[in-house]
Amino acid sequence: MLNTEQRLSILRANRHLSRAPAGVIETIAERAEEMDFAKGAVIFSRQEPSVYCYVLVSGHISHPEVQAAEEQFAIARETTVPGQLFGWAAAVEGMPDRIISARCDAPTRVLAFDGKWFQDLCRSHGEPGLQALQDLVRSYAGHERTVSGRRGWLSIRNVQKVYDPFGKSVVAVDGCSIEVRPGEFCAIVGPSGCGKSTLLNAVAGFDTITSGEIHLDGERINAADMKPKPGPDRIVVFQHGALFPWATVLENMIRGPIVQNKMSKAQAVQRARDLLARVGLSKVESRYPAGMSSGMCRRVEIARALMNDPRVILLDEPFRGLDALTKTVVHNALLEMYEMERRTVLFITHDLEEAIYLADRVLVMTTRPGSIKQTIFVDLQRPRPTELLGKEEFLQLKEEAIAAVHEEAVKAFEAGEREMA
Ligand code: ADP
Repeated sequence: MLNTEQRLSILRANRHLSRAPAGVIETIAERAEEMDFAKGAVIFSRQEPSVYCYVLVSGHISHPEVQAAEEQFAIARETTVPGQLFGWAAAVEGMPDRIISARCDAPTRVLAFDGKWFQDLCRSHGEPGLQALQDLVRSYAGHERTVSGRRGWLSIRNVQKVYDPFGKSVVAVDGCSIEVRPGEFCAIVGPSGCGKSTLLNAVAGFDTITSGEIHLDGERINAADMKPKPGPDRIVVFQHGALFPWATVLENMIRGPIVQNKMSKAQAVQRARDLLARVGLSKVESRYPAGMSSGMCRRVEIARALMNDPRVILLDEPFRGLDALTKTVVHNALLEMYEMERRTVLFITHDLEEAIYLADRVLVMTTRPGSIKQTIFVDLQRPRPTELLGKEEFLQLKEEAIAAVHEEAVKAFEAGEREMA
């Protein structure tokens, strides 16, 4: 049996439950039933009349029946993430009975609570309660790979990365789980050396992981037992830039899709010109990188990232080293492109202001071995004007992020001191 503290921590791991009005999550922790299921068991079925919400404690759930036609129910197809809420859609939507079955692919423990009761509980809290409920609905609509045709659900599950496991082993990342919804802009911040790039490289397919799994739209793209491969579905934009110096902007833009036989030259030129025009770069199409400022090069690179129609855009400190003024310009260019295309973005930075200005969600990593310490939800409306940087709600989020990162930076510093001693 879990104690109340453990239950609370599992419930809080859920993005939306943890935002429920004060008292709701505590009430659920007390009220929820703990249930154990054997491998192969079916948790609920169409026939079962009661409506329950479930939160995964441990194990592996899959919903093999979720099909395209069931879009409106938007239920997770698969999860191993403790704290994941599943099977609630029926309750929230007021469905009379179960709509699908969830199968346990391993011995599984869940916290179960009555969906109708939860719905009433949220509603009785007025506006914040309704907000929590709506968040849940939205969460499921986009959270997992649903059928809406939106791609780019990135699922990082309990990842560990040990460098040089047989020598002087360095545990860079440990127990790291992140779910990025299709089209979400997710930033990761943390002290230097906490494992941010390690994680991004694992997603990009540049490096192996020691344990855990990474899925993109339900497909395993990295795991301990496989050799990952980079692919055009995951485009990386690096800090040092990667434009071909011998090619013009237009040639840089069209090269990838032509080499990969994804587009004819005419199609690629059309798409490139379209993208350049949308971000005000048409005039530079015949310039070479050496003849452009670094800010301009970064903007071209971001536009180029979209050429390949990626599911996820991975940015590793892409604006490091740019002066403050140039940064604002490239931030706005990135936001503009994000608004246009709404691709899933995983953005790594040590610049907290940048993270909050750009992202829907900022994840603060712990000091090495890195895992997720805190989530900061950035509920600031888009499009985001530059004036937002001085607004109270922005500054509050920034303060929250500074406090979280500072604590980890101090730990990292002290650990460094110990290592040196
Ligand atoms: P961040 O991006 O947060 O600055 P990294 O992911 O680059 O951190 O590194 C995390 C930790 O892993 C650091 O301690 C770093 O020294 C170590 N590390 C990174 N790459 C390697 C490698 N190839 N071999 C050994 N240790 C590594």
